Amino acid sequence: DGAIRTYDRVLLKISGEALMGDQGYGLHPPTVQRIAREVAIVHEMGVEICMVIGGGNIFRGLQGSAQGMERTTADYMGMLATVMNALAMQSALEELKIHTRVISAITMNEVAEPYIRRRAVRHLEKKRVCIFAAGTGNPYFTTDTAATLRASEMNCQAIFKGTKVDGVYDKDPAKHADAKRYDKVSYDEVLQKRLGVMDASAIALARDNDLPIIVFSLDEPGGFRGILEGRGTCTWVGG
Ligand code: UDP
Repeated sequence: DGAIRTYDRVLLKISGEALMGDQGYGLHPPTVQRIAREVAIVHEMGVEICMVIGGGNIFRGLQGSAQGMERTTADYMGMLATVMNALAMQSALEELKIHTRVISAITMNEVAEPYIRRRAVRHLEKKRVCIFAAGTGNPYFTTDTAATLRASEMNCQAIFKGTKVDGVYDKDPAKHADAKRYDKVSYDEVLQKRLGVMDASAIALARDNDLPIIVFSLDEPGGFRGILEGRGTCTWVGG
């Protein structure tokens, strides 16, 4: 309904590309640090925070398979890319004295904790930021679906999708001057009009679990906190 509410536990989803800054590829540590500061501000409010970070700045399964790689192998490479991004974020958050756990859907015990739901919930209760890595652990999925899945499992009140733009538009605002931003839009409308919020499986899962998705810009300093407190522009995707 878009009304101002207080959030106790949320999931922040960002794409891998959000971490690459102005570079065309990979990780840009100052950008990672900037986003970590946004998270730190919200952490300071006492909000329990889950994070899911994509891998598109390093590798996308679809791109690999389009160039002749076997799809599932390419998808595993994409999932591994998300682990690198998660570790970069962990490092930046720890620099800010925030306790974190990287929790991987693919076991790699030397690098990250395995995903055990009750354990992850406990970390959140202890105000550790949980960075969920390796997506869902399954090929043919995306980190948007992973975000919806983990947010549902962790009983988050909403998914906050931090992007370059301040919400969902009827057409690409970078290409069309008359693009109109939605204040509020339903899951079904997002699916029917193929609005670029998240992929269809992620939207359908959010709809089935009645999990709102709030799309906002991560470019404004303090913007994440502002959106949580009902300030700033965003789009509320819900039932
Ligand atoms: N991926 C996957 N299963 C998952 C999540 C991700 O196979 O559950 C792979 C997929 O190949 C995808 C890549 O990891 O292209 C990177 O994730 P995504 O494209 O969601 O990253 P983003 O676009 O958010 O940066």
